[in-house]
Amino acid sequence: MNYREQDPKLWQAIVNEEDRQQHNIELIASENIVSQAVRAAQGSVLTNKYSEGYPSKRYYGGNEYVDVVENLAIDRAKELFGAEYANVQPHSGSQANQAVYAAFLKPGDTILGMGLDSGGHLSHGAKVNFSGKLYQAYSYGLNPDTELLDYDMIRDLAKQVKPQMIVAGASAYSRIIDWQAFRDIADEVGAYLMVDMAHIAGLVAAGLHPSPVGIADVVTTTTHKTLRGPRGGLILSQEKYAKQINSAVFPGTQGGPLEHVVAAKTAMLNEDLQPAFKDYAAQIIKNAQAMADVFNKSKTIRVVSGGTDNHLMTLDLTKTELNGKQTQELLDSVLITTNKESIPNEPLSPFKTSGIRLGTPAITTRGFKEDDAAQVAELIVKAVENHADAAVLDEVKIAVRALTDAHPIDANVAEIEFK
Ligand code: PLP
Repeated sequence: MNYREQDPKLWQAIVNEEDRQQHNIELIASENIVSQAVRAAQGSVLTNKYSEGYPSKRYYGGNEYVDVVENLAIDRAKELFGAEYANVQPHSGSQANQAVYAAFLKPGDTILGMGLDSGGHLSHGAKVNFSGKLYQAYSYGLNPDTELLDYDMIRDLAKQVKPQMIVAGASAYSRIIDWQAFRDIADEVGAYLMVDMAHIAGLVAAGLHPSPVGIADVVTTTTHKTLRGPRGGLILSQEKYAKQINSAVFPGTQGGPLEHVVAAKTAMLNEDLQPAFKDYAAQIIKNAQAMADVFNKSKTIRVVSGGTDNHLMTLDLTKTELNGKQTQELLDSVLITTNKESIPNEPLSPFKTSGIRLGTPAITTRGFKEDDAAQVAELIVKAVENHADAAVLDEVKIAVRALTDAHPIDANVAEIEFK
């Protein structure tokens, strides 16, 4: 009996998920579709191994090959981002952030990060998260008129609350972030600067968004978004902080590293270092801008801040008849996957919201180009404007099917030409 026959409930769910991914247009900005190499590394025998510690300094024997893998990951991460130091062990983006706070702060210290309702992440000081419970957390938002980060407002707030650490970076911000402006504010108030570039790391790696490396004291990222790797975290910094960050990750906040995931990060980094990855990252932005152009021409849907410089955008739905939650559910019904999102000056609760967030990393991986992306945006407008018309929604579904059939996942996933 093979493993599928032994545990049909589990394997049927996995097969169903494969089918869902194949037939849905995935627009969640934080998701992507990884290569066979990344999946093979993650499914490898490295999952069997305990390797607490760091290369050449492990608490268990038998780590000679694990060390090769982790050293490769560290070297490639340093090369990709031009960093002096890398820690590839964080199990997730949140755990990378937790380790950085532990390395630089003590409980009760003050942090200043972007508010969750303005596009920041939970781990930047949200009250429901460890970062808001363990630290005195304050948040900055967007300028309500421009819907952009307003560095003067952030400076004023920083002078008022005197943080030990400023956290820059976002989960839903579609414009270029000025790292040097954050650095100057941090210097003015004597704070460390941490940048969480989780969303845009792939664009940074490709040189399509300015890099925070060398400007911030420490940079964190996830590896599963625009970097197109396994779910996980990564920390970059300067050699002078190596010891304190390493010990904050292990033994500070984690036990044994997930070396099969480190192996998958290593495979991802190899792909991200290829010239073809730059083309992929450029196409992500072109696709997002093609979508934003369509929304900007519609009468009902507005792009927050007027457009996008990166892989994502937040749509303001206040002129439609639907809130964010209803739109997410409507789009689910026509096989387009999105998530509800607060807009600046949000009048509704976070469970409803007046917006949705869209991103193009996953559709770009499966080969969508600008025309396809524009067509997806047109289908969204059509569905939202005709949300009560079953016949129109059926037409949208048929068009979605044609697009996903034209770009099957297996044929296009992460086809990287190696140097
Ligand atoms: N940081 C930012 C900016 C994010 O957007 C996210 C996730 O979406 C994270 C951190 C957390 O990553 P994880 O879900 O791996 O903990």
